[in-house]
Amino acid sequence: MLLAGKKALIMGVANKRSIAWGIAEAFRREGAELAFTYASERLRENVEELVKTLPDAERIPLLPCDVAQDAQVTELFRAVEERWGRLDVLVHSIAFAPREELTGAFRDTTRQGFQTALDVSAYSLVAVTRAAAPLFERAGGGSVMTLTYDAVERVVPSYNVMAIAKAALEAEVRYLAADLGPNNVRVNAISAGPIKTLAASAVKGISRLQKSVEDLAPLRRNVTQEEVGDVAVFLASPLSRCLTGATLYADCGFNVVGKGHEV
Ligand code: NAD
Repeated sequence: MLLAGKKALIMGVANKRSIAWGIAEAFRREGAELAFTYASERLRENVEELVKTLPDAERIPLLPCDVAQDAQVTELFRAVEERWGRLDVLVHSIAFAPREELTGAFRDTTRQGFQTALDVSAYSLVAVTRAAAPLFERAGGGSVMTLTYDAVERVVPSYNVMAIAKAALEAEVRYLAADLGPNNVRVNAISAGPIKTLAASAVKGISRLQKSVEDLAPLRRNVTQEEVGDVAVFLASPLSRCLTGATLYADCGFNVVGKGHEV
């Protein structure tokens, strides 16, 4: 078991389709001890029901954290410290933009929509990594991972302000990696191909995107939640110990294909 003895905090489960849930199941399979957060009271029950399906569910901490609230971030890591005393792995699988920002022309992005998207989807990685740093120190190091999407280098219709948030997020991964590397904390991103989740359903045209991946990706199929979970296991485990500041593409190779050119 690749993650035996590791304590992992999973942020970003909303329902069973969440990428974070795929990661949690893969971590569990590899022997990690898990804790979960939920973003709001409305989502608490969902996460609770899912956690109940895991072995030793009663021992799994389930903690509130709206990442837009500094006080909740502070309280989360205080609670993790009280419970575990240390942390080995932090999964940040969180993004949000107001729905109206994910349709129509990019130039119509509002200041408020921009601020919200960047705050929740990008700044939050800085906030939670900083708060987790003392707990990683007690563990002698750590692995942080976040989820991004390849709309950073290329224009994906309707992804709009979320692409800007992901560009910021990917740059943060490199800066945090440089900051925390001397403390043996690694920070990486997984750039996942399109998967039908709650967040993805807010982006117009996800089905068309999935069809393009099936037609054009070298592996001729879409990536699954389970496969992203396996990449996350690699990033959490010592197998990736020399890797930091990287963005790994879990997309069946779609990112290498020249757009407009069928292979
Ligand atoms: P999801 O809707 O299941 O997960 C998004 C999570 O963000 C939810 O759990 C939600 O509660 C959380 N969240 C939103 N606002 C929050 C806040 N203020 N505080 C705390 N949590 C908050 O969808 P998903 O597709 O699993 O998304 C997870 C990550 O994967 C996101 O960063 C997304 O951009 C990224 N991603 C998704 C795809 C895809 O196609 N689904 C592809 C690449 C990257």
